[in-house]
Amino acid sequence: MIAKIIDGVKISASIRAECKARVERLARQNVVPGLAVILIGSDPASTVYVRNKIRACAEVGIRSFRFDFSADTEPDAVIETIEELNQRADVHGILVQLPLPLHFSLSRILHTISVDKDVDGFHLYNVGGLVVGDTVFPPCTPYGVVKLLEYEGIPVEGRNVIVVGASNIVGKPMALMLMQRDATVCICHAKTRDLAQFTILADILVVAAGRPNLIIPQMVRTGAVVIDVGINRLPDGRLVGDVDFEGVREKASYITPVPGGVGPMTVTMLLSNTITSAERMAQSFARSRIKDLASTST
Ligand code: NAD
Repeated sequence: MIAKIIDGVKISASIRAECKARVERLARQNVVPGLAVILIGSDPASTVYVRNKIRACAEVGIRSFRFDFSADTEPDAVIETIEELNQRADVHGILVQLPLPLHFSLSRILHTISVDKDVDGFHLYNVGGLVVGDTVFPPCTPYGVVKLLEYEGIPVEGRNVIVVGASNIVGKPMALMLMQRDATVCICHAKTRDLAQFTILADILVVAAGRPNLIIPQMVRTGAVVIDVGINRLPDGRLVGDVDFEGVREKASYITPVPGGVGPMTVTMLLSNTITSAERMAQSFARSRIKDLASTST
C-alpha cells in the first residue's frame, strides 16, 4: 500500500481563499480584522514564525500590528501592552509568540489576553472550553489537523486515535478535540513504556513529539492514517517530522509530509480564528446598534 499524501499547502490555500472572502464581507461593514503579534527576544525560529504569520495576514487582508520586546524586558511591560491591546477596537486577536524568555511566567502572560481575543486558544478558559467541547477559539495546530481530516473525508467517529505527545499546545488539545468527535483516544508521551504497542492500534496516528524518526513502519498498522505534526531541523539543515516518511508511506493509507502538511494549516487556522473574532465583534456591534435604535424609537 502506498499512502495518499495529504497536501497541507493545497488545503491551506483553499481555506485561505475562504478567509479572503470573509474579510471582503467584513469590509462591507467597515471592519478590517486586526491581529497583534508580540515577539519577545530574537530567537531565530520565533522570528521566522512571526514573519510568516504577518505575511499570511497581509495575503488575506488582515491588518497586523507587531510588537517587539528585547529578551531582558520586564514582564510587566508586556502585560501592560496586552492590557492596552485588549481594549483596542481595531485588534481582534492577540498572539504572543512562544517560547518566552525564562524569567516570564507563561500562564501570567497567556491569562492576561482577553478570552475574546485569544486566537491561539491557550487561555485557561479556552482550554477548559475544550474539555467540555465548547471552545471560544480552537488551538490552531490541532484545529488544522481536524481540518485536514475533514478535507480528506477521513471519519473520526469510533476510530482508534493514538496521539504521541502530550503538550498543552498540541498533544492534549488534539486528544480532546478528537474525543469530542467521538474517537477512542489514547495519549502517549516520553514516559510511555513500549510506545509501539499503542501506535500499532491506531486507525489514526497523530505524532507531535519533536523526535525525528520516532515512528518507523513496524509501529504502524497497515492502512492507518498518519499525521506528522513534528518539525525537526537535522544537522544537515533538512526539515523533517517525527515519522520515517518514506518507510511509513508504504504502509499507511494517508500521510502528511513535513514540510507541507500540518505546518501551513497552523498559520491558516490562526487567520481563520482572527477573522472569526472580527465577525463576532461586528455582529455584537450590529446587535447593540439595533437595540439602541429600538430603544430610541419607543
Ligand atoms: P513539547 O516538547 O512541548 O512536547 C513534546 C511531547 O512529546 C511531550 O509530551 C513529550 O512527553 C513527548 N515525547 C517526547 N519524546 C517522546 C518519545 N520518545 N516518545 C513519546 N513521546 C515523546 O513539544 P510541542 O510543542 O508539543 O511540539 C511537538 C512537535 O510538534 C515539535 O517538533 C514542534 O516543533 C512541532 N510543532 C509543529 C507545529 C506545526 O505547525 N506543524 C506546531 C507546534 C509544534
